[in-house]
Amino acid sequence: MTTHQAVQAITDEYRRRTPQSLAHCQAAARVLPGGDTRRAVYFRPYPTFIQRGEGCVIYDVDGNRYLDFNNNYTSLIHGHAHPAVVEAVQAQVARGTLYASPTACQYELAGMLAERIPSVERVRFCNSGTEATMMAMRLARAYSGKDVILKMDGGYHGTHDFAEINITASAEIETRPPLRKESQGIPDCILDAMMVVPFNDLDAVEETLTAYNHRIAAVIVEPMMNAGGLVASRPGYLSGLRELADKYGVLLIFDEIVTFRLSLGGWQLLDKVMPDITTLGKIIGGGLPVGAIGGRADIMEMFNPTRPHSLKHSGTFNGNSVTVEAGIATLKEYGRKEIDRVNELGKRLRRGIADAFQACGLRANVTGRGSLAYIHWTGQEIATAS
Ligand code: PLP
Repeated sequence: MTTHQAVQAITDEYRRRTPQSLAHCQAAARVLPGGDTRRAVYFRPYPTFIQRGEGCVIYDVDGNRYLDFNNNYTSLIHGHAHPAVVEAVQAQVARGTLYASPTACQYELAGMLAERIPSVERVRFCNSGTEATMMAMRLARAYSGKDVILKMDGGYHGTHDFAEINITASAEIETRPPLRKESQGIPDCILDAMMVVPFNDLDAVEETLTAYNHRIAAVIVEPMMNAGGLVASRPGYLSGLRELADKYGVLLIFDEIVTFRLSLGGWQLLDKVMPDITTLGKIIGGGLPVGAIGGRADIMEMFNPTRPHSLKHSGTFNGNSVTVEAGIATLKEYGRKEIDRVNELGKRLRRGIADAFQACGLRANVTGRGSLAYIHWTGQEIATAS
């Protein structure tokens, strides 16, 4: 069977099993462009419409049952409808979802994060990882008085204008890959405020900081590239970035939106490297929309509204009680024992997939760490983003 025939056979079988998904997709397309409202979940010939989830299982609108390894792109650490999270959400909804006032649960969740992540002394909440990295960049610019953010080629930090630059890695490895806007509608002026270097390349960072540290506010990096294909930072890379940031007077931002789950205090606790600012999201909202910026008290003080000219950061739904209560319930159920357990499951999964590839003679690789796994359809070692 040729590859084309194999793909055709899979597609035919998919169509046979999912007629209701097709019907929903056609109905959706009458009001949503292409039937879609979130690019990441669209695929051809049409996406599967899900009806409900429970634990690690989801059911589609045709009644098909799936084991969910995606968990809404790593945001549901306990799977679907965990009883403790459901109970916390239901109780809060009955008390009202949010108010135009602060609430005690906000500082409870912030306190839990600060207790777990040594570099996080203060926290601000927002509603997505995208907002978190956008505010982290703004914070770094405001604190440093400099404009440029240095990011990694292939690094993914969400969908705001400063993030959608070089999110797919360049084919050629060079010290300063050309800047690329990865969406229409991003103004050219954004490029003046961004620089890019290859991931896992400390020399490229040092060369860039030597020439431009007077313009660079911060370096932003994922300890393990997520959308880039779970490409881990090499041992010594993050501590090297810390040294360079200190040497050249720039801030260091770790985007731990995905990697926070790997230990009580994220990747930074495993590597023992303290960034100045950390961005969080995904699991800390228990499956509801969330983002957070955490960091050193003196930097985060920029947000303090009692200061003259404090940094503007607001949002109607920031720290809403339902998300925050779901986050608290989730983290209470995610202690050292549970982290070890899911990390062990992840290891087993990666080993099992790798063994299966080898047994079939497939040129494919599985990357990841702890409870995270990603498949690359190449036999080569993965050191930069795909
Ligand atoms: N940063 C990283 C590392 C991510 O993986 C993501 C999303 O996958 C984001 C930022 C953006 O988060 P959100 O989709 O909540 O805006």
